[in-house]
Amino acid sequence: MDAEDLAGRVQDGELRLHELEQHADPDVAAEARRLLLTEETEADLDAVGAYTFDAADAEPNVENMLGAAQVPMGVVGPVRIDGGAVDGAKYLPLATTEGALVASVNRGCAAIRAADGATARVLKNAMTRAPVFRVADVGEASEVASWVRDNVGTLAEAAESTTNHGELRDVTPYVVGDNVFLRFAYDTKDAMGMNMATIATEAACDVVTDETPAELVALSGNLCSDKKPAAVNSVQGRGRTVAADVEISRDVVESYFKTTPEAIAEANTRKNHVGSAKAGSLGFNAHAANTVAAAFLATGQDIAQVVEGSNAITTADVRDGDLYASLTIASLEVGTVGGGTKLPTQAESLDVVGVRGGGDPAGSNADALAEVICTAALAGELSLLGALASDHLASAHEELGR
Ligand code: NAP
Repeated sequence: MDAEDLAGRVQDGELRLHELEQHADPDVAAEARRLLLTEETEADLDAVGAYTFDAADAEPNVENMLGAAQVPMGVVGPVRIDGGAVDGAKYLPLATTEGALVASVNRGCAAIRAADGATARVLKNAMTRAPVFRVADVGEASEVASWVRDNVGTLAEAAESTTNHGELRDVTPYVVGDNVFLRFAYDTKDAMGMNMATIATEAACDVVTDETPAELVALSGNLCSDKKPAAVNSVQGRGRTVAADVEISRDVVESYFKTTPEAIAEANTRKNHVGSAKAGSLGFNAHAANTVAAAFLATGQDIAQVVEGSNAITTADVRDGDLYASLTIASLEVGTVGGGTKLPTQAESLDVVGVRGGGDPAGSNADALAEVICTAALAGELSLLGALASDHLASAHEELGR
């Protein structure tokens, strides 16, 4: 059946929009939806239809496929990173529609390059899922929590039976009245791991409900916490907890940012620390989410998890006249397998970083990606702080008539 026939059958009410792949290949089904929408809305969808991958390859990623949204992509780097998983000079593709973002991050990268590179480490790796159970009362809640603490090994056996790569690291019980939440934390290796952790946790929940009086209410009880601002992720981490730092000499600060280490440190304290505290923010940074979002789009990450990726603290201090700066992201959820990472443009971006697919050892590619994104986000922090500080200095100079 061709696209026009399919579109006609939807208009006649014989087929529903999501049934088209049962009657034609996925590219024809997408074309039929564009025809239908063009007829009904008068929107011209030629650009949406000009995609370069096989629609069949995107079937796990989208339903009712129409085409693709294209986002311009730039590149920053190279930056030398002394990391736990990455060692050497790295480029990072960034997809964005925010003019000046790539230039700004790249300016920070140039300063880090002039400072002989940054240091980065993944400090923790724990993708979480936290089901909520109903119990009779706080007495029963306490019994269930104790049983869980004593039986983590049994729960790990059940959870790990569902995956070849995932490893259960920890289960933390939280009790609220007659609710018991169990926060399961997994090493998901090179996968971001949300599907993996959910499937594994379901198997562990069966053991909990068989062995205790707890009744499962929801496999996700929001203490996980996925795609919502949450202090638990800031404090305990989720996905990768990753940090990057750099020491930049006074000369390099002055030459690249047109300001001083003191002015950057002051801007950081007053803006990122005092301002964020006053705002009740979970993010004590200038714009880490900008770099995280653009890197997530380019490399096929789950873009809604930029929420967690903004849980970051920037520090900046003067050390012996030079600038020390760091960025620690508490919950950076990244993968190099699964999700959107297989799509062609996303996979090519992962190739640029040198981390497509599973790493050797497993988990090393996702660790490396986290270290590269964190370093680029640190570069973005430095560049924006430098711009703010130099503006301040410029106006101070103007006022002083210099
Ligand atoms: P996934 O594509 O569901 O699973 C990753 C797969 O890769 C696993 O089947 C794993 O097999 C396999 N794998 C092969 N080599 C691996 C390696 N080196 N390291 C780790 N795994 C390896 O992806 P996911 O990361 O678990 O989940 C990501 C997806 O979840 C995204 O599409 C995201 O949008 C979606 N998501 C789901 C939820 C949810 O609640 N379910 C929430 C948010 C997002 P084994 O497991 O057999 O080892």
